[in-house]
Amino acid sequence: MAKLVDQKHPALHQIAEEVPVEEIPSPKIQKLLKDMREVLLKCPRGVAIAAPQIGVPLRIFLVHDTTAEKTDQATRIPDMVAINPTIVKTSKKKEEMEEGCLSVPNLYGKTKRYKNATLRAFDEHGEEYTRNAGGLLAHIFQHEVDHLDGTLYIDHAHETWETNELYEKTKKKDV
Ligand code: ZN
Repeated sequence: MAKLVDQKHPALHQIAEEVPVEEIPSPKIQKLLKDMREVLLKCPRGVAIAAPQIGVPLRIFLVHDTTAEKTDQATRIPDMVAINPTIVKTSKKKEEMEEGCLSVPNLYGKTKRYKNATLRAFDEHGEEYTRNAGGLLAHIFQHEVDHLDGTLYIDHAHETWETNELYEKTKKKDV
């Protein structure tokens, strides 16, 4: 059974490897995507997950808003699979954001992220795409690509705090 690995797991602190594009349709990679989705679906506030978070050092993340039913359609985050993703363009401006991470339980923090980001990646069928995003999705791109480079947001957060139940209920999403 796939599960989230401990914060100290080496996969979370190393540069993950690219997936050879011809291997994307293989049972190994498709099973990994399924495992990642299953683990994410069990996280009540989860919106995205990267392969290293389940202990697999490959450059893959997926986005699925498990809080979607409660979320306004306009702010709903689209489902995405990103294999070998790179951020090809960002806005000049950064903004401060509160972040949580599935791999760092019970903690939130403030980080600076680019307001807009353009991602190039392969989808689960091996098709390359480019996608622009702003707001939370742009922040997710940056948080997840950081995971693939062995960086956790707490490595660059300038303020962190422990959560309490009320705070979790009102605002938070984990990535
Ligand atoms: Zn994370």
